[in-house]
Amino acid sequence: MSALYGTYARSTLAFERGEGMRLFAQDGTPYLDFHAGIAVNSLGHSDPHLVSTLKSAAEKVWHTANTFTIPEQERLGQRLVDATFADAVFFTNSGAEALECAIKTARHYFWAKGETERYEIIAFTGSFHGRTMGTIAAAGNPHYVEGFGPPLAGFTHVVPGDLDAVAAAITPQTCAILIEPVPGEGGCTAMTPEFMQGLRRLCDEHGMLLVLDEVQCGYGRTGRFFAYEWSSIVPDIVAVAKGIGGGFPLGACLAKGDVAASMVPGTHGSTYGGNPLACAIGNAVLDRVLAPGFLDEVNRMGQVLAWHLQQLAQRFPHHIVELRGKGLLTGIKLGSPVKDISQRLRDEQHMLAQAAGDNVLRLIPPLIVTEDDIKEAVEKLAAVFAAVDTELAATPMGPDAEPAAD
Ligand SMILES: *Cc1c(COP(=O)(O)O)cnc(C)c1O
Repeated sequence: MSALYGTYARSTLAFERGEGMRLFAQDGTPYLDFHAGIAVNSLGHSDPHLVSTLKSAAEKVWHTANTFTIPEQERLGQRLVDATFADAVFFTNSGAEALECAIKTARHYFWAKGETERYEIIAFTGSFHGRTMGTIAAAGNPHYVEGFGPPLAGFTHVVPGDLDAVAAAITPQTCAILIEPVPGEGGCTAMTPEFMQGLRRLCDEHGMLLVLDEVQCGYGRTGRFFAYEWSSIVPDIVAVAKGIGGGFPLGACLAKGDVAASMVPGTHGSTYGGNPLACAIGNAVLDRVLAPGFLDEVNRMGQVLAWHLQQLAQRFPHHIVELRGKGLLTGIKLGSPVKDISQRLRDEQHMLAQAAGDNVLRLIPPLIVTEDDIKEAVEKLAAVFAAVDTELAATPMGPDAEPAAD
């Protein structure tokens, strides 16, 4: 009996080491990693640059509080400002905390302007923003909210893609729109550029802020630094995490200068957020992600993956209902239960992938994935689909048949 909370439906599988695109189980079995610790290991496992950075950072200062200047944090913040729309950055330890900062920043911006009643945020059904009290209210998923007392007030939820519904939900109290450009947990249906542009337009018309959750879809995963760049819009606030630390717990809230300006001393804080160790690694991740050609290659691999999956869908139309996503945040809506398929992939084909909502199998490999890795992964998927078909064919009366009564 485990001493741990039973909050996760864990597999008994445990890994001992990793190398690039592969994880090795305790018995030495290699697993092809199209899971990346849920889109976290952006540079795969044991990346030499990350390992050497961690080792040398470990011999310096691990932690000082944010009461002191942290040079690695200043540097990482400046590099993110130089590379993006943002003028100011707040570092966190997780995605949920990055969202908390985003929500607080949006509300406080209007409060500081004297618009104290303007704190409502329009968010979307099927979204995921984390597991804190604030972020479960933001996403509004009833399964995550139920049983935890009154949810944080001030969130309205509409169906993604429906611009009229968004417009109809705006009130004088609305301060922001919060959206994942490509929802990771929710099933990977990418927002269209037209919808994102429509949201930007509504925000401009009503003086609201556009807040993006790029915790999963950002930091290079779609082949651009941020997923919103595919829509040619500029947001006001963006939350990032997951890939930003390559496996080290790190997150950040990025904002425009005027938006961040009201977050003065005393308004927000984090003990660990952006500590020297975390930011040393964050800088090392950024060295790689911003290196010339890196994002182009991610983009190319996203297209290679999409092409191979289209071929697979032609071979197995009964298994592949729909292909979704963008770049290396890919979703396959399956014809049979995603749990069965992902378990068979893991146990029979030694490949890791992650289930998402709406019966979608998510392929979210490290951003260093190669064409050979993709071909191997697609072959493994084909082998699972073929095995399912063989078993169904061997069942005399088909899968839905009633067991014979005798
Ligand atoms: C994972 C995730 C979060 C929450 O991040 P944590 O680090 O688990 O707190 C928030 N938003 C999105 C889109 C995510 O994928």
